[in-house]
Amino acid sequence: MRIIAHLDMDAFFAAIEERDNPRFRGMPIAVGSDPKGGQGRGVVATANYKAREYGIHSALPISKAWQFSEEARQRGKPAVIFLPPNFERYTEASEHIMKIIRAHASLVEQASVDEAYVDLSFSGSFAKAEKICRAIKEEIQAKEKVTASVGIGPNKLIAKIASGFQKPDGLTIVEEGNAEAFLEPMSVRAIPGIGPKTELLFTARGAKTVRDLKKFSREELVELTGKWGAELYEKIRARDETPVVEEYEVKSIGEQETFAEDTKSAELIFERLSMMCKNIMARLAGDGFRTFKTVVITVRFTGFETKTRTHTFSNPQRTAKALQTEAFRLILPFLDARENPKGKLIRLIGVRIEKLG
Ligand SMILES: [Mg+2]
Repeated sequence: MRIIAHLDMDAFFAAIEERDNPRFRGMPIAVGSDPKGGQGRGVVATANYKAREYGIHSALPISKAWQFSEEARQRGKPAVIFLPPNFERYTEASEHIMKIIRAHASLVEQASVDEAYVDLSFSGSFAKAEKICRAIKEEIQAKEKVTASVGIGPNKLIAKIASGFQKPDGLTIVEEGNAEAFLEPMSVRAIPGIGPKTELLFTARGAKTVRDLKKFSREELVELTGKWGAELYEKIRARDETPVVEEYEVKSIGEQETFAEDTKSAELIFERLSMMCKNIMARLAGDGFRTFKTVVITVRFTGFETKTRTHTFSNPQRTAKALQTEAFRLILPFLDARENPKGKLIRLIGVRIEKLG
């Protein structure tokens, strides 16, 4: 019998900030871009649960988050504390947490900085798997002072959905016999891979819940969503054979930033770029890698025209300096007549590394 757990840290970045800054405890916190008094233009990375009560969630434009905070303040509630992300601290905590998990099980797949799948088939029963997961949760809480939510299921798909079922600090167990019934009443969006576009496609055909999706044949799902439809046909029936794999397959690590005002200032662009390069290298180490071979930069002009440039080194690179030098070299033509003859202003820049080793 397969027994898989999915562990997901609760509002991770915000939880670390709350932990490390006792004066913020119990306050609404949003980690992300600078809101600049409502004029900021990036997004929220993570909001804690207090901030979520104001309608703030990850990927929300930071200006909206600011607006929600102001509205709450006018109702006599505390204003949101906006903080810039500190990836070095998050990856450090993440490393500690992964170590705790690995002490309880040998087959662990880190799925992101704050998520992991754990193969608990060796435990032999859901009751024993639950015990292990409670021990992991307690140890994380005791040592790292943050909470995790866990889902236990017969496969990765069910475990993942179950971990989000009772957040924060939750533990949800879905045994194989109940897995299909567990999914049926859920919105189609509960299935990983169904985004807003696919959801629209289904609602237009009268399918809102996972149960509704079952009226489509495998062929119809393929017709509607492409090749992936065959996998989807299995997923909505709670079937998923994907194994838990040791290596954390990060394909790339990147950051981007929208400027407060569209700009041509080389000084500002280089300053932000070098900050991003540092953050990326910290995250690279946190994800258990040392080297990269490919650098990709993104430039978005006023009006949203977006360009990318890529360079792949012949040898693996391991320093922030190498990354920064290459990123500067790639972006430079966009600041002069070579790639920007009309002198357009730049709205956003991004850096990404690939081919990690
Ligand atoms: Mg999380």
